[in-house]
Amino acid sequence: KAAKASGERFRFFEKAMTEHVSVHLTLENQLRLAIDNQEFVLHYQPKLNLRDDVVRGAEALIRWRHPDSGLMPPGQFIPVLEETGLIHEVGRWAVREAARQCLRWRDAGLGEMRIAVNVSPLQLRDRAFLSDIEQILALDPRTADSLELEITESTIMSDIAHCIESLRALRNMGVRVAIDDFGTGFSSLSYLARLPADTLKIDRSFIAEMDQSPAGLAIVSSVVTLAQSLNLSVIAEGVETEEQARLLRLIRCDELQGFVLSEPLSAEEFESRFLVPGKASTR
Ligand code: C2E
Ligand code: MG
Ligand code: MG
Ligand code: MG
Repeated sequence: KAAKASGERFRFFEKAMTEHVSVHLTLENQLRLAIDNQEFVLHYQPKLNLRDDVVRGAEALIRWRHPDSGLMPPGQFIPVLEETGLIHEVGRWAVREAARQCLRWRDAGLGEMRIAVNVSPLQLRDRAFLSDIEQILALDPRTADSLELEITESTIMSDIAHCIESLRALRNMGVRVAIDDFGTGFSSLSYLARLPADTLKIDRSFIAEMDQSPAGLAIVSSVVTLAQSLNLSVIAEGVETEEQARLLRLIRCDELQGFVLSEPLSAEEFESRFLVPGKASTR
């Protein structure tokens, strides 16, 4: 009887596995087609400089214009791109597209923006990544000034020695580097001082707490002070309330990004809301 039960369990398991695999393959095949059909788009979320209230930067966030399901957020397909190795090709496209968009805006006289692109741990670990970036930079001498790469703190912590080397190479090419989701990756403070980076990006979980309790504010305030003493610029992500924005100004955080200013926008929307000359970038 026990044998029969376990046999049934096995068949059940096998069926579940098959379903899992087939759903998975479908998504993988859809993603391969999506590359050929150019179904990926970048949306841009403005970063507000708190010293002068000017938008001089944006984060590029990828979306998939799925033929049936509409605009799909990255959480639903980046993991599959990573499992299948397609992340390299799509990630390279994202950097190239962000740089192109930035130069288009420059050429149109809409201001000198710097656009940040997120980099997956797999890309950073790939030997070809640095030469991919080099090739993109070679397309136009202004590209390095147009780009920033966001690497999460946990990515860096998973392979510190190699990451330090890659980040240093990127900065030697003139590309800025931001440590994304800072505070969630448990870096030791001794490493932080040695990281070749330009910016700390405070994770939104800390920003959500800062107007809830004195302790929440103290944590964000300490990170801002820490960044300043390490000569890093500091930006708050996921800022949702005016109160959070007010407190960030008070503690002299450099920049702010979040729904309180704007959600991520298509290039066209971003241009008309933040880059139209005259009404320009101030809010
Ligand atoms: P991230 O880099 O930490 O990006 C911030 C995420 O927070 C974005 O979600 C953004 O839309 C969202 N967000 C912005 N402001 C607020 C706010 O005020 N409140 C709240 N609750 N959320 C806010 P999104 O676009 O879904 O991206 C999720 C993650 O996907 C990103 O996290 C990033 O790690 C990854 N990702 C996005 N684009 C790319 C890409 O081109 N390549 C790679 N490798 N990863 C990407
Ligand atoms: Mg990011
Ligand atoms: Mg982030
Ligand atoms: Mg985050």
